[in-house]
Amino acid sequence: MSLDGDVQLESKSPFELRVNLSKGVSESAVKRALETGDMGFLHSFTTGSTVDGPGVRLVAWTAGCHWRCVYCHNPDTWNMMNGMPVTLERAIEELAKYRHGLKIMSGGFTLSGGEPLMQDRFAVRLFSGARALGIHTALDTNGHLGSRLSDEELDQIDVVLLDMKMWDPARHQNLTGKEVGPTLDFARRLSRRNKAVWLRYVLVPGLTDDENDINQLAAFAAGLGNVKRVDVLPFHQMGRYKWKELNLNYTLNDVPPAPPELVKRTCDQFRAVGLKAF
Ligand code: SF4
Repeated sequence: MSLDGDVQLESKSPFELRVNLSKGVSESAVKRALETGDMGFLHSFTTGSTVDGPGVRLVAWTAGCHWRCVYCHNPDTWNMMNGMPVTLERAIEELAKYRHGLKIMSGGFTLSGGEPLMQDRFAVRLFSGARALGIHTALDTNGHLGSRLSDEELDQIDVVLLDMKMWDPARHQNLTGKEVGPTLDFARRLSRRNKAVWLRYVLVPGLTDDENDINQLAAFAAGLGNVKRVDVLPFHQMGRYKWKELNLNYTLNDVPPAPPELVKRTCDQFRAVGLKAF
């Protein structure tokens, strides 16, 4: 879709490499978009997802992320200018097309990324638009920029899919390039507001599978009281080719996919503290 919304917003898999889709958008237009939320930058747009929130979901994947997770499956989402510019109006028009189907399938709209809160004004206005259409809303976030949302804005989101990468602060920093504190603060805030949270945890053999680390994360999550489920996401190599194409230094070439027994052990650790884990 172009700035004036005359091109179809296509459904594409987030696993497709997408670059430079905002080439030609001026710096001042990007600045204005970020300030107002009149326009967003989307990497891709998929329908029919059953893993990104309750029921069947329409998912918009935003471009832009300031983290650098060594296992990131979509490093082409790091740069906002790789996303396609989409006006808010056009995005809401697209949502409206799906509202009846989403309702029938007990689903809704999920904003994922990248990190959607890099474009917090666009995210907030999109959620309000979805809510006005009676569509259930979910935000998939690493939580680091959660303080950009006011309590009223948080109220426009039905469920937060909170990606927790690692418990140990030093290892979190090494894994993501950022500190864990703001994510934990956001998790506590969501707990105080009793906002439903689905916790997501990417399980990478030899990197994020430390038993003690997971036990501590599980205890923290159980103590929050608002974590409805935990999704343990087994690491895979589907994003490897993107690192290569983008000339990035991928350090996980030799890491195998997470085996079923490790996934089971991890799920059991969350279950042991009373959480539902899948
Ligand atoms: S937070 Fe998500 S999009 Fe950002 S680097 Fe990490 S895995 Fe990739």
